Amino acid sequence: MSSECGKLYVVATPIGNLADISFRAVDILKQVDLIAAEDTRHVKKLLQHYGITNKLVSLHQQNEDKASSVLLKKLLAGQSVALVSDAGTPLLSDPGMPLVKMVKDAGLDVVPIPGACAFIAALSAAGLPVTRFSFEGFLPRTSSARKAFFSEKVMSTRTWIFYESCHRILASLQDMGEIIPLGRSIVIARELTKLHETIVKTSLGNALEMVEQNENMRKGEFVVLVDGAAVADKKAQIITAEQGNLLRVLLRECSIKTAVTMAVEITGVKKKLLYQAALALDKE
Ligand code: SAM
Repeated sequence: MSSECGKLYVVATPIGNLADISFRAVDILKQVDLIAAEDTRHVKKLLQHYGITNKLVSLHQQNEDKASSVLLKKLLAGQSVALVSDAGTPLLSDPGMPLVKMVKDAGLDVVPIPGACAFIAALSAAGLPVTRFSFEGFLPRTSSARKAFFSEKVMSTRTWIFYESCHRILASLQDMGEIIPLGRSIVIARELTKLHETIVKTSLGNALEMVEQNENMRKGEFVVLVDGAAVADKKAQIITAEQGNLLRVLLRECSIKTAVTMAVEITGVKKKLLYQAALALDKE
């Protein structure tokens, strides 16, 4: 492709703390002919902070295809464009995919300017295995679709990560508690890089109680990370969430031995399985 064509820069911006932007990102934002932003009013605060006065155009979910075609024409005419989203890395649960694809398909250069990304920041501080993980974006909005999603993930041995809003964090954890063993380690990373940053690593059962009881734990922006299924966990899977909940209640009142004996009588499940599950729950 002709070197007279412009380049598209995909620029990561902060996820809360305005200082979390690279020198190179600021330079690029100053140099380009146009900045394509998800919400132009939102990004203006960042640009003002760094004295950037470049022209802004809007590129959001509703106008993406049309705006991307217009931007491609500008790139072909030799203008350079920076793509930014409201926070973090564009395209990651954010607009930009159609533009990047269009520009790549036209044979033009797409240059990443790396920086903040909420789930990578959360993963780096979570204390969960990072060798293999899956990023799942936002969860489905209905409870039944969420439970179907959790059923798909329950046996996954990788760490899995999703984004959640303050409006749905409690409902999502409650749905999770019906499918995922309550002893499973999870990390709730909330308000990263901001004043009320909280990163809690605990069992799913404890996390659920914490979010139910503490209103502050339902405020702000969330990344949730879930440990993969271990061998012992897989065995514990053989008992249902309902049986697990019964054991949990019994364990609050009696010893492991008595709780298991009672659970065997009530559920008819094999003693060995209930004993393994009780040991895992007791560690919570
Ligand atoms: N592109 C962004 C990135 O690179 O992380 C994500 C954009 S997505 C529309 C916004 C979601 O990311 C929020 O609802 C929340 O789940 C997560 N998120 C963004 N900033 C966050 C922060 N400071 N702390 C925790 N989660 C955050």
